[in-house]
Amino acid sequence: MMHLQNFLQFPSLFTARQDSWKPLRPRLEQREKKQKGKDNIIVLRGSTGDYEQFIELTADTIELSSPAKISCTCPSFKFEFAFALNKNEALYMPENFTESIQNPPKKKNLYKIPTACKHIIAFARFIDKHKHKYF
Ligand SMILES: [Zn+2]
Repeated sequence: MMHLQNFLQFPSLFTARQDSWKPLRPRLEQREKKQKGKDNIIVLRGSTGDYEQFIELTADTIELSSPAKISCTCPSFKFEFAFALNKNEALYMPENFTESIQNPPKKKNLYKIPTACKHIIAFARFIDKHKHKYF
């Protein structure tokens, strides 16, 4: 399981990407509260550049410690991160990534570190920063 706080920055192995999210300007497009079995779920849909992001939190209110599942429509997410996130039960709607979750990444993220693309990091930081104002 992973949590919102896991997606606020790249892990240390990704030093070259540490600041790559900074120029991005994520937008919150939709916020939805749902019930999944006994759990309360918050689904946040964002857009950043040409791509769409989803962050699903198992929570009543948004906290850094909320269990999180994520996805982004960018190629980096699909080819580098979907596999490792799925192994850690942190991939949002794995049915959209059938090929990626069966085949480990071959060119990048060879250590299969479960982290996110820069779009998700930008969006997760936006959510964290505004959680008391908007939610
Ligand atoms: Zn992305």
